[in-house]
Parts: sequence; C-alpha cells; structure tokens
Amino acid sequence: MRTVAEKQADGGYMLNGAKNFITHGISGEVAVVIARTGELLDSHGMTAFIVERGDEGFRGGKKEDKLGMRASETAEIIFENCYLPADRVLGEVGEGFIQSMKILDGGRISIAALSLGIAKGAMDAALAYSKEREQFGKAISRFQSIAFKLSDMATEIEAAELLTRNAGRLKDAGEPVTRESAMAKLYASETSVRVANEAVQIFGGYGFTKDYPVEKYYRDCKLCTIGEGTSEIQRLVISRTLLK
Ligand SMILES: Cc1cc2nc3c(=O)[nH]c(=O)nc-3n(C[C@H](O)[C@H](O)[C@H](O)COP(=O)(O)OP(=O)(O)OC[C@H]3O[C@@H](n4cnc5c(N)ncnc54)[C@H](O)[C@@H]3O)c2cc1C
Repeated sequence: MRTVAEKQADGGYMLNGAKNFITHGISGEVAVVIARTGELLDSHGMTAFIVERGDEGFRGGKKEDKLGMRASETAEIIFENCYLPADRVLGEVGEGFIQSMKILDGGRISIAALSLGIAKGAMDAALAYSKEREQFGKAISRFQSIAFKLSDMATEIEAAELLTRNAGRLKDAGEPVTRESAMAKLYASETSVRVANEAVQIFGGYGFTKDYPVEKYYRDCKLCTIGEGTSEIQRLVISRTLLK
C-alpha cells in the first residue's frame, strides 16, 4: 500500500502514488481509493476516498493485455498531487482497511456467482454438443467417459450454487459471512476452471477454436480464482475462522 494521502491545511488530502490492475481504470467515472493516512501495515492507517474522473492529478495508466475478460479493461491508475477536499473521505478517516474487508465479504459472493454463470454456460454448451456430435456411429454423450464428465460437472455446479446461495442468504439476513463467502468464492471459482476445462475437452478440436464459446469461458473463468483474493487467500481466510 504505497499510495499516500497527506492531510492539507484546509482539511483536504493530497494523493500521490499508483494502483495496478484496476477494473475500468481508464473508462470508469468514479473510483473508491484506499490510501495510507497512517503507518504502513497499521490496520487503522488507511482511509477510503472518492475520486472522480476529471479530478486534477488523477489519470489512467497502462492497460493490461489479458488472457481473458478482455471486454472489461484493466489498467493502472495514477495520482500525482491529486487534491481532494475533505468531503471526499468515504466513512471515517482510518477505517479504509476495515471497510475493504467488509466489502470483500460481499464482493466474493458476486465472484462466486460470476464463476457459477461461466460454469453453467460451459456446461450447457458441452451438454448440447455432446448430444449432437457423433463418433463411431453414436453421439459422444453415449460414451461413458463423456457422460461421467457431465455428471461431475453438474454435481460440482450444484454444490457451488448451494454454497453461493447460502452465503447470499446470510448476507441478506445481516449475518457474519466472512467464512461462507470465502468458501463460496473458493469452491465456485475452482469449479468454473474445472468445468470449463472439461467443456473444452468435450468439444475436442473445436474446443480449441473460437467457433464455439467454450474457449472464452476457459480463458475468462481463470480470473475468478485470482480477483478479490486468490484461492490461496480464501483458504487463509477460511482457516483463520476455524483456528481462531
Ligand atoms: C483482471 C483483474 C482485475 C482486477 N481488478 C481489481 C480492481 O478493480 N481493484 C483492485 O483493487 N484490484 C483488482 N485486481 C487485483 C487482484 O485483486 C489481485 O491481482 C489479486 O488479489 C492477487 O494479488 P496479486 O496480483 O498481488 O498477487 P500476489 O499477492 O503477488 O500473489 C501471487 C501468488 O502468491 C500467492 N500468495 C500471496 N500471498 C500469499 C499468502 N499470504 N499465503 C499464500 N499464498 C500467497 C497468491 O495466492 C498467488 O498465487 C484485479 C486483478 C485482475 C487480474
């Protein structure tokens, strides 16, 4: 966390620094930026600010050339003496880290749902293709090795959906959801990677082409195991709730 917000005499803040891998870093109109207002690694040393496109000293930087999710740009954002009046502080000074953790609890349910959507898209495409494509005189869905792939895909999707819906239900009820959202995100994102991988396999050679949608699902789903905390970080979050 190297972006620093220095308090000014009039109560406003001056931001300096940069952030990488920001969704819509070039096209987005508004950003919520967590910057240091205290010591590094102090959980009360960070504050959330609202930054608007057009604010002096704020600009987008390098756009990443990504494997997937290419319809949504990801870019650096840069702050060079970017002055923000005091009313751009979101919530309380020093609460940025705590706010981030709360937002991530909800955001992870969204990533779980996104993963689930990709997995279902890949499943639907693979199921339809397996009934249509014939080899050795019969539909490939009639080969047990293909049918069992479909069984595993459907079972994992069902489990991922139940975890995701459970986390959503707890969130709606205002219950703590840190562990459940991490479990849903971990399982659903890893499921989407496994399912998209098998979907490409079921399509055979066509799975490796852009004639069918599964190669896109295969590329897009990988982000879900990385963004909003990697699978390793989800395991860290889950284990902390178990071991504390
Ligand atoms: C397309 C895209 C869009 C994004 N959009 C945004 C955005 O809008 N806003 C935003 O703030 N961020 C965004 N991100 C950033 C994203 O949240 C991070 O990339 C992600 O959290 C991983 O952090 P990192 O890249 O620093 O990986 P690193 O932390 O460098 O991790 C590298 C590897 O080390 C492992 N690792 C790291 N620490 C630990 C640990 N303590 N224990 C075990 N393993 C560990 C990781 O799991 C991973 O396998 C985006 C990223 C991408 C790719």
